[in-house]
Formats: sequence, C-alpha cells, structure tokens
Amino acid sequence: MDKSQSGFTRNVRLLKASVNKHAIYGLIISVMAIIIATLVNCYMATGGISLDGIYKVQKTLPVLWLLDALPFVFIVWGQYIGTILVYEASAMILDQTGELQSLTSSLEQRVMYETTHDNLTNLPNRFLFHDRLAQAIKAASRHKNAVGLAIIDLDHFKEINDTLGHFAGDRLLKQVALRLVGVVRKDETLARMGGDEFAILLTQVDDSNTPHSFYKRIYKAMDLPFNVEDTTFDVRASMGVALFPEHGNDVDTLIQRAEVAMYAAKQQKNNGYALYSSKLDRYSPRRLTLMGELRQAIEGDELSLYYQPKVDWKNKKICKAEALVRWKHPSHGLLFPDEFIGLAERTGLIKDLSQWVLKESIKQTLLWQQKGLEMNVAVNLSAACLHSPDLPEIITGILSSHNLGGAVLTIELTETSIIKDPEMASEILSRLKALGADISIDDFGTGYSSLAQLRKLPVSEMKIDKSFVLDMMKSKDDEIIVKSIIDLAHNLGLKVVAEGVETKESAGRLNEMNCDLLQGFYFSKALPAHEFEEWHAQFTFD
Ligand code: C2E
Ligand code: CA
Ligand code: CA
Repeated sequence: MDKSQSGFTRNVRLLKASVNKHAIYGLIISVMAIIIATLVNCYMATGGISLDGIYKVQKTLPVLWLLDALPFVFIVWGQYIGTILVYEASAMILDQTGELQSLTSSLEQRVMYETTHDNLTNLPNRFLFHDRLAQAIKAASRHKNAVGLAIIDLDHFKEINDTLGHFAGDRLLKQVALRLVGVVRKDETLARMGGDEFAILLTQVDDSNTPHSFYKRIYKAMDLPFNVEDTTFDVRASMGVALFPEHGNDVDTLIQRAEVAMYAAKQQKNNGYALYSSKLDRYSPRRLTLMGELRQAIEGDELSLYYQPKVDWKNKKICKAEALVRWKHPSHGLLFPDEFIGLAERTGLIKDLSQWVLKESIKQTLLWQQKGLEMNVAVNLSAACLHSPDLPEIITGILSSHNLGGAVLTIELTETSIIKDPEMASEILSRLKALGADISIDDFGTGYSSLAQLRKLPVSEMKIDKSFVLDMMKSKDDEIIVKSIIDLAHNLGLKVVAEGVETKESAGRLNEMNCDLLQGFYFSKALPAHEFEEWHAQFTFD
C-alpha cells in the first residue's frame, strides 16, 4: 500500500467517526422526541403519567408509531449518506493531493533545471559541468582514454559590456552560446561557467579530434561578425585546454590548469589557443588576483624585509647584508619575490615597491647603527628603475631624512637589466655612485655581457650567479667559470660575492679562490631583522 492510499483509508475512518458521532446525536434527539411526545399524549389522554397510560397511547396512536420508526430510519439513512459523503470528500481530497503532487514535482523539476542551467543561455552551468566532468574522468580512467577540458573566454567582453550596456552584453552572450552549440558534437558538453566564460568537455580526444582541431572549429564559429543593436562587431575568443590524465586527475586541477592555459592564450595574443604546460603557470589566475592586491600590499602593512648576510671570511667580519622582500599575504601566507616581483614589473608597481624597500632598509640600517651594528644593506633594483631619472634624488631624500650617507647602501642590479640599455644605466649608476653607494652586478654569468662592456660602468662588486656556485663542487666546468670570474673581477678592481653557498666544502673552495664575500644557506637564509641580529650575535668564524 503506498503512502497516499494509507492516508486515504485513515481519512475515511476519521470522517466516518465524525459522521457517526453526529448520527448518534440525531438518534438521541429522536429518542427524546419520542419520549416527550409519548408523555404529552399520555397526559392528554389520561390526565396523568403512568405506565398504563404510556402503554395505551403507544398502542393506539399511529403518529407515535411513525415517531418510533424515525430513529431506525435516521440510523440507516445517516450511515448511508455518511459513508457516501465520506467517500466523496476523500475522493476530492485525493484528487487535490494528486494535483498538488504533480505541481510539486514539476516545481522540483524546474528548481532542479534552474540550479543546473544558466538562465541566460539555457546551457548547463558550472555545477552541472563539474558533475559531468567528474563522471567523464571516472569513465576515462576505467577505459584508459583521455578527456579534454576547454575553457573559452571572450576577448574584450568587458569593453563591449561597458560601451553598449549589460542588455547588449547579454544578447551577445546568447548569440555566442548559439554559435558554440552549433559546433559542439553530441558527446561534448558545452556549459557557461559564468560571465563571458564557457567550457567544453571533450570526451573523445585522439588524433582525429585533437584540441587544436577542436579550436579550429571554435575559431570558425566565431569568425563571422556579430550583430547586436545594429552594431556589428568581431568577437574573438581565447581558449585554453587541459587534458586528463596528462595535466591533472581531478576536476579542480583540470579546471584550474585549463584556465591558466586560457589566460596564457589571451596574453600571447597571436593565436588565441594554448594547451596547458607548467611553463604557463606564470599566467595563472592567482597571479592575476595577486596583481590587483599588490598595490594595497605596498601601501598597507603586508610587505616585509628579510636580511641575508654576506660573510667576509678573510677579514672575519659581517658588515653587509642583502635585503630580500617578502609578502605576508593575508590568505596565501608568506610569498617569495619570485611570485610577485615579475607582476610588479609588468604593472609598473615596481617603482613604488622599490621605494618601499629602500626606505625600509635604510631605516633598518639606522636602527642597527644605533645598536652598534654597522651594516651595509644591499637593495635589489629592477631594470625598470633605471628608467626613472629621479631615482638618485629619491634615494638622496631617503638617506638624508635618516641622516645617513650613501656608504650604507649597495644597489644590486642584474647583468641583464644593465645591458638592456647600457647608456641609461651608466648615467644613473654614476649618479648613485656619486652618493657613495656601492653598485653590484647581480646574477653575473647569466647575461652574456662582456666584462669589457661592464668595466665602463661605475661598478664595485660582482655577484656570481648561484647556479655556478651550486654546481661548482660537482662540475669542473662550473668551478673553472667561478675561478675565472673571480680572477677577472679582481683584475678589474672589483670585489666578488658568491651566492648560493650551501655547504662547508663550497665555502672552503671559494675561500681558496680568494672570493671576497660568501652568501648562502650554509651561513644563513634571509631572516627578519630581529632574527638577523640574533644570528649575528651568536655567529663565530671557527
Ligand atoms: P637574488 O637577488 O639573486 O637573491 C638571492 C636569492 O637566492 C634569494 O631568494 C635568496 O633567498 C636565495 N638564496 C640565498 N642563498 C641561497 C642558497 O644557498 N641556495 C639557494 N638555492 N638559494 C639561495 P629570494 O629571496 O627568493 O629572492 C629571489 C629574487 O627576487 C632575488 O634574487 C631578487 O632578484 C628578487 N628580489 C628579492 N627582493 C627584491 C626586491 O626588493 N626588489 C627587487 N626588484 N627584486 C627582489
Ligand atoms: Ca640580489
Ligand atoms: Ca643573485
């Protein structure tokens, strides 16, 4: 018996009980009427009330017979009508329940549809797509085949939206969806992930259906101009693809990597399509978000400087340290410069960042000086900084506001940034040198510059790139390179710093080669200022 039937039987029983109750009331009333009518008639016929009189009127008066029959008629009729009414009422309830049930299930279906589909384009939405991708991954791992995930994003959609308004933007998105539907095969799922981003699940990826041939289909679909509100435009899309199992084993990784590829495709501009590879990670959306947050980080309190000692083994002193920036990101934790210096360079924020580093490190030297710790601090500057002619004035301003001279400062510039524009570099470096600052060529050995070129510059220090130092003990070639750089630099009157000194052996070897300063994890990693002080206090040269 299903639920509705058992409910029905219960309703019938309840209604019947209620009807029976009223039939009993009717029965009581009719019995009372019989008693009253009999007593009245008895009194009228005999002038009193007696059993004899009652018996007599009951026997002789046909009206009373009729009355006597009423309770039985009531009982039968009441039961009969009651049962019919109850069944009719229940049938009505059942009808309405049925209606309600079908209404509920169609509402449920609608809600289900709306939570799994995008209401602008009617395409599956992000949630349904995730589900389908998860299913496809399961099936593909059983059958040992590949699955492709393509993320497609329209180029410059924001501008179209801003210029023509959201209504036109929506109409364009609908048209794009229709075009994509036209080129997607039955076994492929097309979804709108949100905004102007679409995704396509390719369940069959092989030589007959490569991601690139798929992109050609998409490219063709978008080829003809679109027409919205009597304006015709060309809309281009960028597409990134990630493959299961090559680029990831789960939904989130695949989506994230397809997005990275898509961002790369967007920025490479030339072809609008990219297949994921780890080389593209620098285009990741996380980086793009970081880019937006970096200004806030510079202005706020999120950057911090760590200091790594440059150890002068020969003279047994530590009077130089390199300032290396860190970003204490509120949600990602401690970020290293490789994650954000490139971004800062691309967005022009590098000048603000460098100024912050200069101010902070010069302030720190002053604090150390006040504690009796004489420390020259090295600051890394990017190539872009060489293009701001006011840099020497900015540095002079910071130094004089702390009552310090340029001798407390070393400027580290990479070899590559100097040889990009040697004339400009020479100009600025001379002015910095005039302040009394040391100029150091960072990552030396990676930039293919000739020493002849560099000797014209007002440089005082050369840092051998850590890749040579790290491999020096394993590779004879690297050892020879390190030795020649040290000798050449000394011949030019320059000091030499070796960075990437990780072992006692390499430190010993570099000392034998007469290297002036040693920097690396063997001595210390970069530390926050107060930890640097502690390290410095306990360090011994034995
Ligand atoms: P860099 O100037 O070559 O700095 C040396 C990097 O090597 C630092 O990484 C340091 O922690 C690391 N290092 C030090 N000793 C060793 C070692 O023994 N072994 C190994 N494997 N690595 C060692 P970090 O701090 O991640 O900095 C990376 C790069 O970021 C720096 O390379 C520099 O180019 C850039 N950078 C850091 N701070 C700044 C800044 O304030 N401004 C600019 N423009 N660039 C910065
Ligand atoms: Ca450096
Ligand atoms: Ca370096």
